[in-house]
Amino acid sequence: MSLRTCWLNGSFMAEEHAHVSIFDRGLLFGDGVYEVAAVFNGRLLDADRHLVRLARSQREIGIPAPYDGATLEAMMQEVATRNGITEGLVYLQVTRGAAERDFSFPAEVHPTAFAYARAKKLSDDPNASGVKVHPVPDIRWQRCDIKSTAMLAQVMAKQAARESGAFEAIMHENGLVTEGGSSNMWIVRDGVAYTRPTSSDILAGITRDVIFDVADEVGVKVVRRAFTLEQAYAADECLLTSATSFVLPVTQIGQHQVGGGAPGPITKRLRDGYLARAARLTA
Ligand code: PMP
Repeated sequence: MSLRTCWLNGSFMAEEHAHVSIFDRGLLFGDGVYEVAAVFNGRLLDADRHLVRLARSQREIGIPAPYDGATLEAMMQEVATRNGITEGLVYLQVTRGAAERDFSFPAEVHPTAFAYARAKKLSDDPNASGVKVHPVPDIRWQRCDIKSTAMLAQVMAKQAARESGAFEAIMHENGLVTEGGSSNMWIVRDGVAYTRPTSSDILAGITRDVIFDVADEVGVKVVRRAFTLEQAYAADECLLTSATSFVLPVTQIGQHQVGGGAPGPITKRLRDGYLARAARLTA
């Protein structure tokens, strides 16, 4: 890994100098929140939406916002630019900060905020030819709407997926699919795209949100309704959405082949529509 320029608590610095305390509550308790935004054509994509969600996550767990959205957006763009990223991502994390270890909020504590960038192929993603996903029980807490860094359940789920040769874990609860380990899941049946309604059971993905608009543009009907694993097995198409994978066709769920094992036409329309919008916004 080459040395990157990172940002930590207001300053840009080489990765080797970006250190946080062993008493940081992000490290001790997973007491922090984060965002990941794509970089396309060298420009941040939908940073405003990501920063609105970050502010909400912080509010929900009572971490104050030391920087405003405009400052963070400019900083994230600069992190991408300084590292020469044309396609990739910027990661931004805010923790409650470092203090003597005590579960409840310390009286005197200042948030730790940091960001780094990483290159990743987005327009020409080899996964666009279809990925396998691996179903696992959803064992997470009941506030999955908060983009928390406490993600042991997803770490275990995605490791199980990798061990079964799958790209992503698909979590399910009471027979219903909740979402992917780090993505939202959709199915297509008779030309209609279904995804689980927004609730505290899932993260309201920014990409999912954007796809609601893209679907309108490209003439795909969307219904916000939960679906079972069996409905996913039998679907015409399945797809995943996330900021750093955009739209990916799912062609296999566990042992079940989906949609004849090839990407379907609705998925392709949504992916192409998403890419066209990304190109438009970053031109
Ligand atoms: N669900 C979970 C659990 C995630 O971690 C992510 C990735 N941040 C998503 C959905 C997709 O959200 P977004 O489109 O904002 O990347």
